[in-house]
Amino acid sequence: MTEILNGTPIADRVIASLKTRVEELKRHDIEPHLFLVQVGRNEAVETYVRAKIRRGAKIGIRVSHQILDENITYDDLKEEIARIARRDDVNGIMIENPLPKHLDFFKAVENIPYYKDVDGMTPTNQGMINLRNEFLTPATAASVTEILQGMNLPAGTTALIINRSPVVGRPLAMMLLNRDYTVTVCHSKTKDIKSLSRNSEVLVTAVGVPNFIDRSFVTENSIVVDVGINPVQDTIRGDANYEDLFGYVRAITPVPGGVGPITATLIMENTVRATEFQSTLSKG
Ligand code: NAP
Repeated sequence: MTEILNGTPIADRVIASLKTRVEELKRHDIEPHLFLVQVGRNEAVETYVRAKIRRGAKIGIRVSHQILDENITYDDLKEEIARIARRDDVNGIMIENPLPKHLDFFKAVENIPYYKDVDGMTPTNQGMINLRNEFLTPATAASVTEILQGMNLPAGTTALIINRSPVVGRPLAMMLLNRDYTVTVCHSKTKDIKSLSRNSEVLVTAVGVPNFIDRSFVTENSIVVDVGINPVQDTIRGDANYEDLFGYVRAITPVPGGVGPITATLIMENTVRATEFQSTLSKG
């Protein structure tokens, strides 16, 4: 029997607790405000933006969205982010990825103050994870830890991540270490991932290739967390060949409906946390 690790019930629980926290902030006349910065038009980005606006409305978070000219220079983008960051009524800022080719996403992100960086991408927020002092963590990595938390796995559980990006693999490796997992990180130059993966209890895949993970990567005891989002014809597929693995592995996240719904919700949780932090600061 394979356990299906659905993200929606986890996201719903987080949303319920966020509503309570937002009500408390509003009793003090504080409305959490998330500001999304997009550069150039991009249909996929705008779909995610609309989803964040809807989710924010459900929780009571105001979400603003600004689209900047696709030819904006780095200096002008930096100035625009600084202008948004100075606004006391903006608690969280997120730069929508990808940016046009002439702009470096991580360089742009450095212009967001760490306490408004609700995407968890600034060097300060990434570094704090390494120091076991998690504050605003990257939402995708945090979604994986939320899913695994529900499984109550013992300390020392082995986890293998196929991804070394600063968006997913690197912060996730540290966050799992902080939770007493024994972690292996793999990438395109790793030799014999399949045997490493078969010897690991948890497999987190974020490769970006549909059907990359089949039975040769897993055993009956594997827990597969599929972070991949791959458009295939009119639908979205993960990295795992779900039909091949379902009924064979111990547990698996579906795509869509696994990591995705939690990620969108944790951006909102970071916005609420950032707002609470800023209101504490403003009280002195
Ligand atoms: P990325 O920077 O391109 O990372 C892909 C990783 O996969 C890299 O570490 C790469 O290794 C590795 N890789 C590629 N081909 C491989 C191979 N044949 N064998 C082993 N490793 C291989 O992409 P990303 O931004 O981290 O995103 C990865 C996936 O996660 C995408 O499908 C993306 O859509 C999805 N994603 C999902 C969410 C969510 O909320 N569910 C959020 C963000 C991203 P190298 O480092 O050696 O190149």
